[in-house]
This record gives sequence, C-alpha cells and structure tokens, in this order.
Amino acid sequence: MLRLASYDIVFQEIPDEVTLALNLSGCPNRCTGCHSPHLQEDTGKALNEKVLENLLEKYGNAVTCICFMGGDGFPEEVLKLAQFIRRRGEIFFALKTAWYSGKPELYKDAELYFDYIKTGKYMKELGGLNVPTTNQRLYKIENKTMINITNKFYKQ
Ligand code: SF4
Repeated sequence: MLRLASYDIVFQEIPDEVTLALNLSGCPNRCTGCHSPHLQEDTGKALNEKVLENLLEKYGNAVTCICFMGGDGFPEEVLKLAQFIRRRGEIFFALKTAWYSGKPELYKDAELYFDYIKTGKYMKELGGLNVPTTNQRLYKIENKTMINITNKFYKQ
C-alpha cells in the first residue's frame, strides 16, 4: 500500500516549479548512502484519491506541480494517482505532475501521466542531481518526448 510519510512545498526539486512534494514510504531501493532511511520503513497514512483530493483542495492554488517522491514499491498506485490529478484537471488544470523514482528506467506508460520524471538510484560515489557525475536523470516530458534537463541542477 502506498503510504504518505510527510509532505512539503519545495522549490528546487523540479526546476521552475513550486512543488508539493509527497514523501512516500516503503521504498524498496536500498541505495547505499540513502539520504532518507526513514522512507524505507512502512510509515505514514495510506495515500489514496481521497487524501490526495484533500491535499489538492488545500494546496492546489499555492503550487504549480505535484511530485511523488518515491513509491517504487507500488508503481501502479503512483500511476493511478497521477491519472487522478490529470482527471481533476478541470479544477486544477495548471498543475503539473512529477515523479522522483529510484528505478533506472521509466515504468510502462509513465510518460503519459507525468510532466517530469526523475530516474536512477542514489549512488553516493556518483553524487546527486546537482553534480555532472550523477547517474540520475530528470526528464521533462512534452508530447510524450523525454527531454533530459538534468543539467539544470548542476551548480554554476
Ligand atoms: S530511493 Fe534510495 S535514497 Fe531514496 S529513499 Fe529509497 S533507498 Fe533512500
């Protein structure tokens, strides 16, 4: 079951967006040097359409993007909730959708429901998204075309 450990409004995870980041627990990736080990536990309350709708009503006007941080243990549920946000587009039409996955590749059809997807495990020796040696990638998706925008994170 997809569980919401916490959430926050953030400004750097998705370039040029104000993002409601949903921190999902139950992460199966076991990255060496994991920066959020508490997210490997099954903590938090179940994240479903009702909980998401409440969050959208509360914060939808304050952000431009909703980002699922994790959820690799339950990818089908993440995809369903992204579809839910898209279906609610008549109300929250301006909201983009994003997914920070730790998997090396996109899940099937994920490009249909997200505007941004981050892929790749965190590997301490290669560094995070802010260094050019990273194995991680952030893609912007436009018309089902994936555009690698990882270099937007590199420190100037
Ligand atoms: S993807 Fe890796 S770094 Fe992120 S919570 Fe899971 S194990 Fe930790």
